[in-house]
Amino acid sequence: MSYLQDLYQEIILDHNKRPRNCGKLDCATCQANGYNPLCGDKITIYLRLEGDRVQECTFEGNGCAISTASASLMTEIIKGKTIDEVKELFERFHDLVTGQEELDELKAGLGKLQALAGVREFPMRVKCATLAWHTLNAALRSEETPVSTE
Ligand code: ZN
Repeated sequence: MSYLQDLYQEIILDHNKRPRNCGKLDCATCQANGYNPLCGDKITIYLRLEGDRVQECTFEGNGCAISTASASLMTEIIKGKTIDEVKELFERFHDLVTGQEELDELKAGLGKLQALAGVREFPMRVKCATLAWHTLNAALRSEETPVSTE
């Protein structure tokens, strides 16, 4: 168990230090801004959709390690997925980090996102971990007003 925890810690640290898909996406078809006032995390999500499939997703942000790592992991896992698949993934990820479901049932398909399961012990951190996903949802709905976790 502690080996796994170390591994997950590694993933978060690595994605915080070297965020993937970080930067503005010039050819984005939709984007949204998100803000988590509890922690001060700010993020912009850029998406390029082709039909209902995510071709590219990048982010720009200024936030804590959890919010940055979560955004980085998210941009990796949603690439190539359809909007429906992305929504389903978000629901499962949300259940994972809020602890509403038993962990084992959720493991399939979440991949490295499981690294963030530990935030369920820290309710304040749940908002850091889900900010990128809420912002992604807003981008998919093409909302103009910035989303807030509050
Ligand atoms: Zn945060």
